[in-house]
Amino acid sequence: MELLAPAGSFEKLRYAIEYGADAVYAAGKQFGLRAKATNLDEDELAKAVKYVHERGKKIFITANIFANNQDIDEIPPYIDYLSKLGVDAVIASDPGVISIIKETAPTLPIHLSTQANTTSWKSAEFWAKQGVSRIILAREVSFAETKEMIKRVPELEYEIFVHGAMCISYSGRCLLSAFLNNRSANRGLCTHPCRWEYTLTEKSRPGEEFAISEDERGTYILNSKDLSLYDKLEEIVSSGITSLKIEGRMKSLYYVANTTRVYKTAIQEYLQKRKPDPQLKEELYKISHREYTTAFFDDSELNNTQTYETSGYKRNYQFLGEVVDVESAHTASNTQLLFDNVVNIRAKFSVGEEIEVISPDHQQDVKLKVQAIYDEDGNLITDTKPNTNITLKLDTKLPRYGILRKQIK
Ligand code: SF4
Repeated sequence: MELLAPAGSFEKLRYAIEYGADAVYAAGKQFGLRAKATNLDEDELAKAVKYVHERGKKIFITANIFANNQDIDEIPPYIDYLSKLGVDAVIASDPGVISIIKETAPTLPIHLSTQANTTSWKSAEFWAKQGVSRIILAREVSFAETKEMIKRVPELEYEIFVHGAMCISYSGRCLLSAFLNNRSANRGLCTHPCRWEYTLTEKSRPGEEFAISEDERGTYILNSKDLSLYDKLEEIVSSGITSLKIEGRMKSLYYVANTTRVYKTAIQEYLQKRKPDPQLKEELYKISHREYTTAFFDDSELNNTQTYETSGYKRNYQFLGEVVDVESAHTASNTQLLFDNVVNIRAKFSVGEEIEVISPDHQQDVKLKVQAIYDEDGNLITDTKPNTNITLKLDTKLPRYGILRKQIK
């Protein structure tokens, strides 16, 4: 069973792979949704393909816009480029784009994007006849429906979302953002106006606003919870589904790494017929998230998919930085062996604070109290500054790809 993680940048891609992803999905600078994610330029795409293949992993590239006439001429050279680069599949949704992929690179696997809203086995059968090798199912498809599709159209691979934000419209087919903000969701530019606060105005009374509220905190008709199928993994691993996808190309490196290791560890445990460590699930509450729901998976939470507290994220932990180097140990004056752990800083922390360092194996996470911080010139400092490198001299060697965080109190 494949765990597929988002790679909004080359750096996030490396963390996804190091924290357990079997495959990553990313966009080039052209034709992929999530236009605001950093996305990969041509050099980075080449580097990314090499990086994942050297580690026996896969990379899928999105080309899932709904193309307009003026886009068409630029698509064949891009597909040809991706094919020659050796990407493992292209993710597409527009029938025109799919036909270009088939004409330009007949052997390049095509994964049908969730944007195509495949919701029945008959649609799956149709797409199989069109040469698609994998269907990324709409989040609105239940587990029972998915299993029926696998049974009726077994020649296809099936990919489902297991974690991440959900769109209140059918898999992103929504005009709200294009209409209100001139930023189209179907071109990767959604500004999430479904989560804004609205008032009602009567036509002949401009300027007079009437509150629309379900309760004293506001109205939440369009405010979806986040998806988490963590509690359903035991059923999922024996279902015949090929790939489990984590949403979040716009999310932080910390989100990508931590979510990936949680799902990867749990999948491995269930495949070995063991139960995961209960602490593992707690990690999903230590990343930025809204309330979780299993949404359309089965009947259990179908009426519990909206959040009524807030449209914002819950953040209990702050991402502080990542370990970029661990220099050889040296002996301090008191003969204690110390390691220079070099950390790239994302947010401030200070001497005396309790921090945690997570690593790909959650059993090896460590907690420590910051005793001394050295800047890049070797001077002792009391607080860190974002976008600098600092050194923590510790008797522990922190793991390469370790991520520092602290609890928000
Ligand atoms: S505005 Fe909301 S519902 Fe529409 S595409 Fe964006 S996230 Fe989805």
